[in-house]
Amino acid sequence: MALLELRDVTRRFGDFTAVDCVNLSIEAGELFTLLGPSGCGKTTLLRMIAGFDVPDSGQILLDGQDIANTPPEKRPIHTVFQSYALFPHMTVADNVAFPLKMSGKTPAEIKKRVEKALEEVQLSRFTHRFPHELSGGQKQRVAFARGLINRPRLLLMDEPLGALDAKLREDMQRELISLQKEVGITFVFVTHSQDEALALSQRIAVMNQGQVEQIGEPSVIYSHPANRFIADFIGKINLMAARVTQVSDNDMTLEIDQLGTTTLPLKQGIKTGDQGVMAIRPEQVSVHALARHAELPHAHTGKVLDFLYVGDVTTYIVELDCGIRVEALLANSSPGRARFFEVGDSVIVSWTREAAQFLMN
Ligand code: ATP
Repeated sequence: MALLELRDVTRRFGDFTAVDCVNLSIEAGELFTLLGPSGCGKTTLLRMIAGFDVPDSGQILLDGQDIANTPPEKRPIHTVFQSYALFPHMTVADNVAFPLKMSGKTPAEIKKRVEKALEEVQLSRFTHRFPHELSGGQKQRVAFARGLINRPRLLLMDEPLGALDAKLREDMQRELISLQKEVGITFVFVTHSQDEALALSQRIAVMNQGQVEQIGEPSVIYSHPANRFIADFIGKINLMAARVTQVSDNDMTLEIDQLGTTTLPLKQGIKTGDQGVMAIRPEQVSVHALARHAELPHAHTGKVLDFLYVGDVTTYIVELDCGIRVEALLANSSPGRARFFEVGDSVIVSWTREAAQFLMN
């Protein structure tokens, strides 16, 4: 049985539907992420799981029991917020001890458990400091320790790394993954950052306008997005308006605006007349000097319009002769060879049949 199950959960504010008939199950021990653009309903969903808000319809089950009538403080669930919500006048140890004090544990037990919790988040040396004497990352770790101290069944986190700089954020992501493995508690993480979701999660639910559009492992969501919105939202992708003109046993023929006709492996459920996009990730696009044209599949000539060198990779924008712009990402793996092409170079752009996919609008 799933640890947490949402069945047709809906929340309206006036005539606006913030969460629209959401169904999902989260297994015990998972690090699960709710990902979606700002305003898609992630926080509203999290607040209903925590008990700070109630659905207009639908059910929230924990271990198979409907928790609709259980107040937040009675749910075995803790929420960590982006703002940390630490008590400024209390030391690190007192902040972490707070939930135990509220539940009436003895001073000896509190001391032992606080020591262990601070060890888990590597803050043992900071026991007596106050929040204003800590860095952002350290404050966030205090909030995690406080969240974990009562060993909740579920730890909910709403953009907990949002206030940290990029480098620290990456370190904290790694720490969170190992912390979650160590404590074995189910984490539900909310973010609008697709990089963060891909890096952290065992599974992701991608939300858009109150609905869950796809649930899956990060690699599946990245390589097989269910539709155009997800492809565009997760990572960079080239999208070309396309229409299905023919479907056979194994293939489908697409008519792509400006580019012409191409065939791709047939996808289930696609029929002649469907409108959508042909999608290709930049790292699946290769760029070659003009001479190699003859041997390449799906090859198109064009000119380098621009490039962006970002250390480990270079992104090239190539304008094809037909006018379409294609983005290609080339790894700068050979030392001293950071730039393969210059602006204005004539090049061939190609991709394999498997790299391109048709996605419905
Ligand atoms: P963000 O990433 O910006 O935090 P989110 O995905 O968490 O966004 P929510 O905070 O869940 O989005 O909000 C979803 C939608 O519901 C938004 O359009 C928001 O304006 C609306 N909303 C949220 N709470 C209320 C409320 N109490 N009254 C009216 N509208 C609300």
